[in-house]
Amino acid sequence: MAVPKKKTSQSRMGMRRSHHALTIQAFADCKNCGELKRPHNVCAHCGHYDGREVIAAGKPLKGAVRV
Ligand SMILES: [Zn+2]
Repeated sequence: MAVPKKKTSQSRMGMRRSHHALTIQAFADCKNCGELKRPHNVCAHCGHYDGREVIAAGKPLKGAVRV
């Protein structure tokens, strides 16, 4: 079994973990209801996209991500 020769230093560990930060998901206001939604996606709250209703309002979207 391969075994590390030296203990990983705090500096080395910090350098590795410098890439671990999470990024905030993109979001935008729905132009119809003002609810937060993902850009270029149908609003999960009111079912509007590009100024018109494309999915019946109030019906929960399957796999829709609420932001
Ligand atoms: Zn909406």
